[in-house]
Amino acid sequence: MRGTMMDFPLTLPVLLERAGKLFPRVEVVSRRPDKSVLRTCYGEVYRRARRLAAALTRLGLRPGERVASMMWNHSGHLEAFFGVPCAGGILHTLNLRLHPQEIAAIARHAGDRFLIIDDVLLPTLEKFREEAPFERVIVAPYGSGSASVPEGFLNYEELLAEGGDDFRYPAIEENDGASMCYTSGTTGNSKGVIYSHRALVLHSFATGLEESFALSFRETMMPLSPMFHANAWGMPFGCAMLGTRLVLPGPHMDAESVLDLMAGEGVSRSCGVPTVWIGILDALEKNPGRWKLNAPVQVVCGGTAPPIELMRKLDRFGIHIKHLWGMTETTPIGTCGGLRPHMQEWPEEKQYEVRAKQGWAAPFVEVRIMRGEGEAPWDGQTPGELEVRGPWVAGQYYDAPDQAQRWSADGWFKTGDVATIDGEGYVKLVDRAKDLVKSGGEWISSVDLENTLMDHPAVKEAAVIGVPHPKWQERPLAAVVLKEGAQATEQELRAYLAQSFAKWQLPDAIVFVEAIPRTSVGKFRKTELREQFAAWKWES
Ligand code: ADP
Repeated sequence: MRGTMMDFPLTLPVLLERAGKLFPRVEVVSRRPDKSVLRTCYGEVYRRARRLAAALTRLGLRPGERVASMMWNHSGHLEAFFGVPCAGGILHTLNLRLHPQEIAAIARHAGDRFLIIDDVLLPTLEKFREEAPFERVIVAPYGSGSASVPEGFLNYEELLAEGGDDFRYPAIEENDGASMCYTSGTTGNSKGVIYSHRALVLHSFATGLEESFALSFRETMMPLSPMFHANAWGMPFGCAMLGTRLVLPGPHMDAESVLDLMAGEGVSRSCGVPTVWIGILDALEKNPGRWKLNAPVQVVCGGTAPPIELMRKLDRFGIHIKHLWGMTETTPIGTCGGLRPHMQEWPEEKQYEVRAKQGWAAPFVEVRIMRGEGEAPWDGQTPGELEVRGPWVAGQYYDAPDQAQRWSADGWFKTGDVATIDGEGYVKLVDRAKDLVKSGGEWISSVDLENTLMDHPAVKEAAVIGVPHPKWQERPLAAVVLKEGAQATEQELRAYLAQSFAKWQLPDAIVFVEAIPRTSVGKFRKTELREQFAAWKWES
């Protein structure tokens, strides 16, 4: 017998209506390029998103067509997050940090029909306009307050002013596409993921969980992940659904500017990759008394593993990191967590070890680790490839020829990450399969070495890669950035590592560098490091 409940579709218009009706006065704060602050609210975002939906419909947008955005984190982008899907279209957030030719190629692959762009980003568009597919370009006045719109382009504000407030949503099914994002390509070519309305709505519920972002109407969230990186980790949708005050930093992502905004706006929730928080810690240590934060600030950190020392030191400043593992393909919440009640009395060191794990699976995200054909036990020791499935996990890529091998025969997504899972379900990432150092038949985790190096007081950043070796196939090489004014020798760092690692696991070379190359979303770009050190001459 079937249940007797309504078959009610999970779609974004319902979420937008909710934000407009229940939280009209909750603030959305955006920082402009000149650092002035624009204050608006969900009531206004609701009204303008619907006007945008009406304008796109007038321009002839058909269901399922892609509208690209090239915008910083600000309320105008938030309007597009709702306006495009509520018109039946798919918002494709372009990664504006990529090379212009790469942006053009991705826009062409996605078949983006329209583009909404911040006026301040027009110079970037100029570099690839000829190769881009956009039929219409809509310019939003983010920098100037009134957009000076080049010939042939449309003015966002004029479009919004033309229509009334009587927009009627088209028929949308919950499995229809709502937004689209390309993976940032840390390890391979970037691929497109289309998030359905249903996935985004269900994922928004998960953003309210204590073990994840813990969003609520009481909190102020400042996402430091760009809105083009997995929808700023779902924050625009989650915050609107739960009535969370939203602070959007615009293009100013340097640590001091972020801290100014964080303190000034009483931010209590944030998220971002570890490199962002490494910079913030550095600024706090240089000017300990300068910022009065709304502590404790709960920060969700993922993308790569935050080192324990980073967590420990940020704790002292009232910034508490919660670890989240996710991917563009998982919308992105996969696993998250923290300490369980019976761990509260554990010694501090043991607690940090738990917090350094990636946490347990979010509701409806199922995880398993595979070794060959079989599933590995949840013993916290046996590593294997992490596979996931769930309602907000991608079931395929958009139009990618060589994608079949990313899904198992029984439909799980193969993440390419190597992990262990313990008896309580805590996932611990050993490494990305491609980043494991394969030395003489043994695997060495680059992540463990990096984290321990970054625990050393003189080290700011460290990345470990496998470099071809005539005898051992690969051996680990560590690229290290020292803190300003700090000193350490290769021998000293190796001795430090030797306290925690077997001799054969230690990097054979520790090289001091000015900076570690980063991807467009702030991760260490190991592919580039590997190229840089490919011809390294090992001492025999
Ligand atoms: P890209 O694959 O291009 O880096 P994503 O942002 O989708 O783009 O990255 C997903 C990957 O990031 C995961 O497969 C994993 O390797 C890594 N990752 C994400 N979160 C964590 C974390 N908390 N700890 C370690 N690695 C992580």
